[in-house]
Parts: sequence; C-alpha cells; structure tokens
Amino acid sequence: VRPPRELLADRHDRVRFVMASLGITTLLVSALKNLEYLTGFRGSTGAALVRADHVVLVTDGRYEEEAGELAADARGLVRPLIVEKTYEETIAASIAGDRSPVGFEADVMPVSKHRWYTAALDAAGWPSAGFVPTASIVESCRIVKDAWEIGLLREAAARLSAVAVGVLADLRPGVREQDVAQAVEAGLRRAGFYGPAFDTIVASGPRAALPHGRASERAIKPGEPVVLDFGGIYGGYCVDLTRTVACGEPGDEVRYWHGCVLAAQRAAIDLAAPGIAPEAVDRAAREVIERGGLLDRFTHGTGHGLGLEVHEAPRVGPARTMARVPAAGTAPLPDRLQPGMVFTVEPGVYVPGRGGVRIEDDVLVTASGVEVLTSVPTTLVLD
Ligand code: ZN
Ligand code: ZN
Repeated sequence: VRPPRELLADRHDRVRFVMASLGITTLLVSALKNLEYLTGFRGSTGAALVRADHVVLVTDGRYEEEAGELAADARGLVRPLIVEKTYEETIAASIAGDRSPVGFEADVMPVSKHRWYTAALDAAGWPSAGFVPTASIVESCRIVKDAWEIGLLREAAARLSAVAVGVLADLRPGVREQDVAQAVEAGLRRAGFYGPAFDTIVASGPRAALPHGRASERAIKPGEPVVLDFGGIYGGYCVDLTRTVACGEPGDEVRYWHGCVLAAQRAAIDLAAPGIAPEAVDRAAREVIERGGLLDRFTHGTGHGLGLEVHEAPRVGPARTMARVPAAGTAPLPDRLQPGMVFTVEPGVYVPGRGGVRIEDDVLVTASGVEVLTSVPTTLVLD
C-alpha cells in the first residue's frame, strides 16, 4: 500500500510551503519516516531531496526495483537516484549544482557526516552558510493526517481492538506474562499487522507499577492487576492500546486506582477538540488524578501522537517549564489541536511494590471533538 499520487503531491506542496517560510529551496531528508511520508519508500536506507517540482529519492541498488515502481506510480513527482559509491558522494554531487540554500535535518544528521558534507561543498565552491540546519519541517506536516492516513489508522485501531478483545478473553491466572505477549504478537500478525509497534508490555502484580514493564517469566496470579500495553504497525501506521485487568477480585485499592484513571481518561477525551492546547488535555487528566490523591503516582505525560512512528507529535503532556529556544530553520509545530491529529490518551498511576493501572485509547481530532478509534471494554475484573 502506497499513498495515492494526489496525496503525495499535496504532502510535497505542504512541505515546500514550510521550506519557503524558512528560506530553503532544497531540503535533504534523512529521517526514514519522513522519507516514507514523502515517497512511500519503506527501505532501510535512503534519503530524499525535496526540490521545487519533484522529490529525488536517493537509494542504493538493493532498492532499485522498489524505487522504480514507486516512481512510476508517482508519475514525475518522485525521481529515483541510485547510489554508485556512497550516499554522501551521490547527495553532495546532486546538491553541489544547487545555488540556493539547502536545508538538512539537524536532528538526524550525525556530526561526522555534517563535517563531510561541509568539506565537500566547500571544495565545490559553496559558501558554508548554504548548508542550513533545520528541524520539524516534514514533522510539522505529518502532525495533521490526510484522508488516506486517517483511513489506515481507523482500520488499524479497529483491528488492534479485536486483537485485544481476543487476548483478554483468553487471559487466565497461571499464564506467564511472556505467553500473553506471544499471544498478542501472534494475534497482531493474524489480524494483518506487519508486526508489533514496540515490545509488548505485560506487567502483573507489583510489576504493574513499572510503566514500561516488558513481559517477563512471571506467572499471573488471581486478583492481581495486569497492565497489557501493545501496539501494531498496519500499512506503515502505528496504533497503541492499554488495558488493565484482573483475573478475580483485585481488592479496593486496585479498584480505586482503576476508577480514578478511567475518570481521568474520560475527562481528557471529553476536553480534546480543535483549538484546545495539548497541555490542557493533559491537565484535565491530571486534575482528576490529583483530586483522587494520586497525583504524585502519575509519572508520565497523558499521551503522544501516532502515525508513521509510535511516538510523534503532538506531545500531550504538561507545559515545558522552559520555552523552546526558537532556532532559525525550525518549523513551529501547531500549539493547538487541529482536526486530523491522532494521539493516545493514557493516564496511569503506579505505586511501587504494589502495582498500577493504565488505560490507553487512540483518538482522532474531528471538527467538533474527538473520535475514539480504539474500542475495547474497560472492565477491570475478567470472569
Ligand atoms: Zn501503549
Ligand atoms: Zn502509548
């Protein structure tokens, strides 16, 4: 599955608009997910040059056929350039003829490669100021999903929910966390996922207090909280879900945590809408947990954006104490929610030595609020 040509054209135009606002006429894209966004390329190595009327896909002989196919589909929008010796030499030779400033992605360019490029461009008679560090140019476009991406994410979330329902129905005391994780991953593949989006988290009993407790050898005991957090990659797009359940009566404390986290999640989902700041969504969840007396046990942000990456913009967390230093070449990310943004809402509480609860769903910002894409009962006690 590749993005349709007209959507690729639209993505290119949006990226060029941001580039123009930063005074850049060619952008060297090294981040693979940005490359995938702009071309549909899914190989392990490659780069792109976003130019005024086309995007050059730079890759090597291993991907010549794939690059040729997607360029044919893109009919002129994407032109492949196959590396002969090294990526750097091919890219430097390609941009050496460009007079205008060429931006590079400062977050992913290693210092050693940057040195190499500046020396090579210097040798080609370039002014050193012509190779410009940038940040967030493609990411600022990726933050709002297009119709094709929304279709994939909606389908992925429905499939992920079906996998979760199946796994929860099979959960029994005595089963090891690892066995549950294996069942999740087998379920993902059966449901058409390319694979898990991250290491599946199955954390039972006191391990439920570890927000990122990877599945271990531990056997699940009756009545313990079990945090099950997993994600899948479908058509290149990541979805992510958490439920906390108990096989048997978990007792008042876990019931209380669960009620509190569920109310916090509800408050955050109810507030989320276009024009609302992500920090406000985080605050809505945090205030409920604070009223429940558990504020110091909620140790992470409320959510994160989903897309080609399982953690991307928008970040749904507390406002940063120090404002970001605005750097030249950095594209601003929107500071309010907009229709088409997709993110998780996943408050949690963690009490060391005793356990914890997290509940996570994926939402799409609509014209008036959000659509919850995942759909799995939030029942704590399984029969
Ligand atoms: Zn998760
Ligand atoms: Zn998550």
